[in-house]
Amino acid sequence: MEMDKENYKKRFEECDDKFNRIFQLTSAASKIIAADLTILKVNKAVTELLGFAAEEIEGTKILDYACEEYKGHWHNLQEGLWSRQLPFFKLEACLKKKDGAIVWVNVTTVLYSENGKTYGFTVLDDFTYRKNFEESEKQLKQALAHSHKIQETLRHNEQHLAQILETMAEGVIIVDDSYKLTYINPLAQKILGRNESELLNCGYNDNNWHFLRLNGSPLPFEEHPITVMMTSGKPVYDSEIAIQPNNGERIYISINAAPIFDNGSIIAGVSTFMDVTNRRKITELKDEFISVASHELRTPVTSLKASLQLLNRMKDEPSPKMMPNLIEQANKSLNKVSLLITDLLNASKFNEGQLHLNKTFFIISKIIDDCCYGIRLTREYEIITEGDTELKIYADMERTDQVITNLINNAIKYAPASKQIRINIERLSNMAKISVNDKGPGIPPEKLPHLFDRYYRVDSGGFQFSGLGLGLYISSEIVKKHGGEIGVDSVVGQGSTFWFTLPLSD
Ligand code: ADP
Repeated sequence: MEMDKENYKKRFEECDDKFNRIFQLTSAASKIIAADLTILKVNKAVTELLGFAAEEIEGTKILDYACEEYKGHWHNLQEGLWSRQLPFFKLEACLKKKDGAIVWVNVTTVLYSENGKTYGFTVLDDFTYRKNFEESEKQLKQALAHSHKIQETLRHNEQHLAQILETMAEGVIIVDDSYKLTYINPLAQKILGRNESELLNCGYNDNNWHFLRLNGSPLPFEEHPITVMMTSGKPVYDSEIAIQPNNGERIYISINAAPIFDNGSIIAGVSTFMDVTNRRKITELKDEFISVASHELRTPVTSLKASLQLLNRMKDEPSPKMMPNLIEQANKSLNKVSLLITDLLNASKFNEGQLHLNKTFFIISKIIDDCCYGIRLTREYEIITEGDTELKIYADMERTDQVITNLINNAIKYAPASKQIRINIERLSNMAKISVNDKGPGIPPEKLPHLFDRYYRVDSGGFQFSGLGLGLYISSEIVKKHGGEIGVDSVVGQGSTFWFTLPLSD
């Protein structure tokens, strides 16, 4: 009996020893805890896991190492094991190491009894690596989602910007730092008269055109607004230049240009520009008109002045021979001035839509006869009225007279060699067509579309014939106001036929 006891003790000691060795040697971090979670014993793996020496840990409570938000889990463990007598318990926990770092562990606790007391044998399985991996995977997923969102916003913004650029009422181009075109919006292509594939990667200083200053002289590359902006790094505003394509009409553009910087150096330039050719043409036309109008007014005014000076000189001794001539001359000049002023006033009045018609029924050939009366008296020109001479129209008599007088006067003025002027009246359903034909020099076909424009004169600048370029414009406004049409058929060297239509009834 004594022998058995000895044997048991020996075997128990051997077992205890074996357990202790295994406990110490196992790479699984293991500890033994009491019911109140006091750590009674830890193995080497626990000291390595937490960074504390065994003496530092033993006697402390496991809760001292638990991260704040996981403390509740340990209480559950305590309660489950000791109050509810669960044989084992698993939990996931995070512990603080000596250096403050966090370690994630799967805790498995198995209860056992010794000398009537219950202890817990706990194994801590470190899964920080997996947790970190999960964490970084989560962060990566978040970052990816974020970057997708940014990409989406970027794509959206890009689309938005592209739409704005595509529909902009200005030409937009982007040049890179070697002055090559990297973007050309549709309007820029339209203004420059070439498509994207022809322009992309070309320098703006292309061989297909050359740039000019406003005075027509060549614009050196270094003076081009985009070059100035790219070399100075400063924006350029409203700089006007001309582009002369090798084959095509000269256009004028107004350019704005600004540099695009990256890390302090210019990587590209963006330029917006608009076609100001029409604006320039109008300015030129206005300048020309002022010069023509002054010239036209100066001639009769000078003559009027001369007549008045002579009359003034002879006021004490009036010459009965010269007096009537001088007065007639002065009257003629004054009439001329008055006619010019009336044309000017009419042109601006009609342009503002202030043409009011006073319509009545009348025989059109009567008005033609009245207009021609003075001319026929001079016997210099033969005016033949043909066609439906009884045709009645419904129109403003005074304004109709103005149109006919203008066409006949033009035939005399611009076709002086044509001594015969034929006027034809014909009926076209509910309209009367009146044509004035001369056998003069005719008008070149390319000029025909502009004849009825305001201020347009075929011989502009030459001053061969006097006139403000308003007669046909005024006539066309009057005819259009009646709902009629006006036009011209002309062959150079054979003569011109100016015609218009007016209604027969309301
Ligand atoms: P203006 O008032 O200066 O005479 P118009 O508007 O009447 O100007 O005419 C415009 C231009 O049309 C003139 O400059 C002239 O060159 C041309 N023109 C008008 N009538 C004739 C014609 N019968 N024959 C040739 N050219 C004409």
